[in-house]
Amino acid sequence: MKSCKHDVLTLVKTKDNKLRCRHCHLIITEDELGRSCCPECLETHKISRRDFEKITEEQGNNTRYCCDSCGMVVEY
Ligand SMILES: [Zn+2]
Ligand SMILES: [Zn+2]
Repeated sequence: MKSCKHDVLTLVKTKDNKLRCRHCHLIITEDELGRSCCPECLETHKISRRDFEKITEEQGNNTRYCCDSCGMVVEY
């Protein structure tokens, strides 16, 4: 298999904002949560809570690109 030079790159947008429940500290993505309340608090305490703090990913300023030729995801 030839090695790919990753010439054709498409920017991959990472939109997995994470949230942490202030009560049970469950970490959930905004997508998973949707419009519902914290599933852990509901399960354990039978209380519907929507008290979350946003977690900012500490991964530096790496931007991810997806190679159109081989499909590999590369970071810069
Ligand atoms: Zn490639
Ligand atoms: Zn919770």
